[in-house]
Amino acid sequence: MRAHLVTYGCQMNEYDTHAIRSELAGIGYSFVDSYKDADLVLVNTCAVRGKPVEKAQTLLGELRKEKHRRGNLTIGLIGCLAQLPEGQRMGKRFGVDIMLGPGAITEIVPAIQRGKFQSFEFINELRFYSPPAPADSVSAHLTIMRGCNHRCTYCVVPTTRGPEVSRPAEDIINEARALAGAGVVEATLLGQNVNSYGLAAGTGSRRARIPGYPSFAELLRMVGRVGIPRVRFVTSHPINFDDEIIEAIADTPAVCRYIHLPVQSGSDRVLKRMAREYTREFYLDRVRRIRELLPDAVLSTDVITGFPGETDEDFEETLSLYREVRYDMCYMFVYSEREGTPAASHFEDMRRDVKVRRLSRLADLSKEISLERNLRWIGRRVEVLIQDTSEEEGLVLGHTRGNHVAAVEANLEAGIHNVVVAHATPNRLYCVEDPKDAVIDSTP
Ligand code: SF4
Repeated sequence: MRAHLVTYGCQMNEYDTHAIRSELAGIGYSFVDSYKDADLVLVNTCAVRGKPVEKAQTLLGELRKEKHRRGNLTIGLIGCLAQLPEGQRMGKRFGVDIMLGPGAITEIVPAIQRGKFQSFEFINELRFYSPPAPADSVSAHLTIMRGCNHRCTYCVVPTTRGPEVSRPAEDIINEARALAGAGVVEATLLGQNVNSYGLAAGTGSRRARIPGYPSFAELLRMVGRVGIPRVRFVTSHPINFDDEIIEAIADTPAVCRYIHLPVQSGSDRVLKRMAREYTREFYLDRVRRIRELLPDAVLSTDVITGFPGETDEDFEETLSLYREVRYDMCYMFVYSEREGTPAASHFEDMRRDVKVRRLSRLADLSKEISLERNLRWIGRRVEVLIQDTSEEEGLVLGHTRGNHVAAVEANLEAGIHNVVVAHATPNRLYCVEDPKDAVIDSTP
């Protein structure tokens, strides 16, 4: 039995696919690189933007043809798109056999054994896998919570992934210890809103704690003591990014000083229409506190350009916030209308050329500021994790604790190395070998 797995979207999906792979291996599947050689194809989908939905649709069209051609192909559509009416219509149209929403993917083995199966339940008690440490990598993902209680008006995640569920801390620590024991040197704690880990139902900045659960800040300190040299986390919501978390990062050497804090817009009017629950001032206060306690922290963000009703003045406010914060990196997107979201139902989409023009202005600003931020590192010793030792024009690629892409002019093995930054561009730090280099840890 041969399976081909395709993953679109975020790190949560990558983690789920990794878990599914180990479940399938447990029932005798091997894995192939092309659907043409597979008996089973699982497409783990993303529905956050239009692009990954289009990609899934194109692939399903090819799979339907392949199935007609040879008759013995099982097709599974899983993840966020499967949870939405749009995905369920697609499933019918393309003759999909297995449809599982992201809250039900732990049902994958029984679904495959039945051959034809659908589930869109949120199966809370089964929602967390403990997949084995990856055999071929020194870094790993570790899910600490799932779902989202917020209701950002542009986002399908609350519908596709359901309300927040935090994983018991003991399970997280056990999995972290297993990763450390297997030689993993970088673990990324995953969740839609990791900062609301351990918080009871509701939203806002004053939520009660679930009895018996640590806060996210306490969890960071706990995972930081396990022995994994680098601990990261994504993604954060500014409303729950409290001082306790910033202090935990400052006090815990293993936790990387890289903070991804999505702002989406710098205009209070747009933030309100997005239902982001914070104001520009609240957000800037969080950044001030980060800069006070972690002056060297690397900051990145997400911005949406052309949200419905965004005026030129609103967009100028986003640019002015961007200049004030001086982000190291930015993930920017034009607004993409998603069926079933409040924004799609209540607001009118704006012209694509306006959205794209704004994106391009933001990209120019971001490039200028990233270069300025990256130039600060020249001459400094940074720690780089090399995962893949293959060379690109004599350079090996890795990433720093601050998540910069580092291109190193040296013949290095996989693992963590100290190098010196010699040159920088907006997207990369170019590094040379440090004479005092010592491999802190390497492949198992
Ligand atoms: S916080 Fe908002 S953008 Fe993030 S997953 Fe929840 S609803 Fe979506």
